[in-house]
Amino acid sequence: QPELDLKKYIREVPDFPKPGILFYDISTLLRNADAWQVATARLARAIAPWQPDLLAGIESRGFLTAAPLAQRLGCGFVMLRKPGKLPGDTVSLSYGLEYGQDTLHIQSDAIKPGQRVVVLDDLLATGGTLAASVQLLRKVGANVVGASVMIELTALGGRDKLDTPLHSLIQYA
Ligand code: 5GP
Repeated sequence: QPELDLKKYIREVPDFPKPGILFYDISTLLRNADAWQVATARLARAIAPWQPDLLAGIESRGFLTAAPLAQRLGCGFVMLRKPGKLPGDTVSLSYGLEYGQDTLHIQSDAIKPGQRVVVLDDLLATGGTLAASVQLLRKVGANVVGASVMIELTALGGRDKLDTPLHSLIQYA
């Protein structure tokens, strides 16, 4: 369905999670079988040329694209998780948010040196989360060959924080 406009399936929720924030809700896309299938197919087409060995998903909405795409592309799947979730040795990275800080972990043996990794999340805003994820992946030896999101908020310039190629399915100014 080359003509399907995926934007029609994203719900815009004002004042979530805080007053003044417009939240782009992907639930309405995920619950539509056609839209979800088209989105996954388009993401697969964009990511395949990077020839990844592994797809890394950022907790939790990054898992929603990374896991099915890994199956489709014949890659492994790796989780970047919030503190206290992963068993065994982990490596972590803390990064600044608009208010406060967040931390992501990865299992220290998740990646063999030089493996080609694409990192996925649902949405790129300031780029802080994705930039930190790229750094964390490199700390454990990944060759990060690309990043992919369903939604890019272009006006926030998050793309400029990344030193890897970025693909986005849907853009909002
Ligand atoms: P950034 O670090 O780029 O500023 O923010 C991106 C992170 O915040 C992503 O992990 C994303 O899940 C979450 N996020 C921020 N705003 C939205 C939004 O409007 N919709 C969705 N689905 N996620 C958002």
